[in-house]
Amino acid sequence: MSRPLIVDSVAALRAQIRDWRRDGLSLAMVPTMGALHDGHVSLIGVALEKADRCVVSIFVNPTQFAPSEDLDKYPRQLARDLDRLAETGAQLTFTPGVAEMYPAGFATRISVGGPAAGLESDFRPTFFDGVATVVAKLFLQASPDCAVFGEKDYQQLCVVRQLCRDLDLPVEIIGAPTVRDAHGLAMSSRNAYLSEAELEVARQLNAILRRTAAALAAGADEGSATAEASRALVKAGFDKIDYVAARESLTLAPWRRTRDGRLLAAAWLGKTRLIDNVEVPSA
Ligand code: AMP
Repeated sequence: MSRPLIVDSVAALRAQIRDWRRDGLSLAMVPTMGALHDGHVSLIGVALEKADRCVVSIFVNPTQFAPSEDLDKYPRQLARDLDRLAETGAQLTFTPGVAEMYPAGFATRISVGGPAAGLESDFRPTFFDGVATVVAKLFLQASPDCAVFGEKDYQQLCVVRQLCRDLDLPVEIIGAPTVRDAHGLAMSSRNAYLSEAELEVARQLNAILRRTAAALAAGADEGSATAEASRALVKAGFDKIDYVAARESLTLAPWRRTRDGRLLAAAWLGKTRLIDNVEVPSA
């Protein structure tokens, strides 16, 4: 497969996409922050099943990081990412700089309610505003027919769906399953921060969530089961648990047994924060 074209300006992005549109081709978008791994690659595979052309954006979006977070440390490895993209069949890579996305004087911020409330927002209160703002910009810049997001960031997927619905953005949002390593650990660019010992602990997160989801599906009390999961995570070696919570899978409203649910968690290992989620089947 050949290397995708690379553009770093909105004008060049639009010019390329205009050519494709003139030829009647459909377009899928995969927004990323780079440090690409098998999870990102799987999204591109889904995108290319849906559309004739795929644009992958690589942009470490400063507006979704709080001042205390890892913006400066976030892995940036564009040359490696471009090599990786050559294997995927994606046709275009959009790599804007911060000044292209947020020129001097930029003053707009999109705020989403509904599924953005609680969970991540309790700990990262400005995160989803930053995500919604950059995703809306990317969609307006590229005008894709569809965009693929990972279930790994489950609340983000729900927030992006809400954003498109509320702002009439004509982009179909496709959720793709979480890609995991052989031990069940969800692939994440932030896994690069983990030591060998921390990796061992991290690999237990998914197993504990699956066990808890099975208990909930079998009738366990929600409060006791999630408290037990937090205890199990601490016992496994996690340093701090931000949340373990069951929600309705579509709206992220409080979970009811008669509806499909999602069990979501965020936990710290040293200075690294990991998130994961699993399905809770309805009764
Ligand atoms: P990021 O680069 O971390 O912002 O992620 C870009 C996209 O890749 C988002 O839609 C994520 O949900 C998705 N993603 C990240 N990790 C995984 C994974 N392990 N499996 C599937 N999708 C993922």
